[in-house]
Amino acid sequence: MISLDYLQENATSLRERVRVAAERADRDPADITIVAVSKTFDRQLMDEAYRLGFRVFGESRVQEIRQKCETPLPGDADLHMIGPLQSNKIRQLLPHIQVLQTLDRESLLQALIKELAKSGSTLDVMIQVNVSGEEQKSGISPGNLSKFVAAVSAAPELRPIGFMTMAPFGADEATLTNVFGGLRQLRDDMEQHYGQAVPALSMGMSDDFEAAIGAGATHVRLGRSLFGER
Ligand SMILES: *Cc1c(COP(=O)(O)O)cnc(C)c1O
Repeated sequence: MISLDYLQENATSLRERVRVAAERADRDPADITIVAVSKTFDRQLMDEAYRLGFRVFGESRVQEIRQKCETPLPGDADLHMIGPLQSNKIRQLLPHIQVLQTLDRESLLQALIKELAKSGSTLDVMIQVNVSGEEQKSGISPGNLSKFVAAVSAAPELRPIGFMTMAPFGADEATLTNVFGGLRQLRDDMEQHYGQAVPALSMGMSDDFEAAIGAGATHVRLGRSLFGER
């Protein structure tokens, strides 16, 4: 069981590290949102994190989200889906999330549009990009991104708010710079090409978030460094 003192200490130290990394990059720390990745941790701990001021939570499994959200999160808390999503789980997931960070393929795009159209609702999405090009990673490849952005933008059911990526596990500094800087460049290219603001950059996890902030991350997804080892 994780003690509340431990959670509070981690929260304080993470906020300080975000502040330092932001200032080093000449950025305003207020422009960086910590997504508290609560997967595998129980609802009670999410509520404690909420009391400590966290307002954005990241979860990666639909079943777990449904269990934890039997009692809805407070109205000013947002839940972001950050895991791979199967099309047949969309309907169960939609009532619980504010943002889907992992829009990563054409078939999911079509299934989402279909489901949202039924209820006449809209959803904020980030497009997941496979910047590193690792075969086992999901995400749109940089070469196909422009076409995919156009398809997302054309769907009135979806509001593209930005992009998400994951760096390779255990990547060195040079690789991190390439991957995170690469996503930022793709974001800038897309904004210029489509004349439309798609500002969010969700990149950086517990082991690499400072490099991500240096490259322009607006959302860092922090699990272990906040809640402890899973
Ligand atoms: C689990 C997870 C995280 C958090 O990882 P930590 O190493 O615990 O900070 C971030 N992003 C995604 C997509 C994840 O699945």
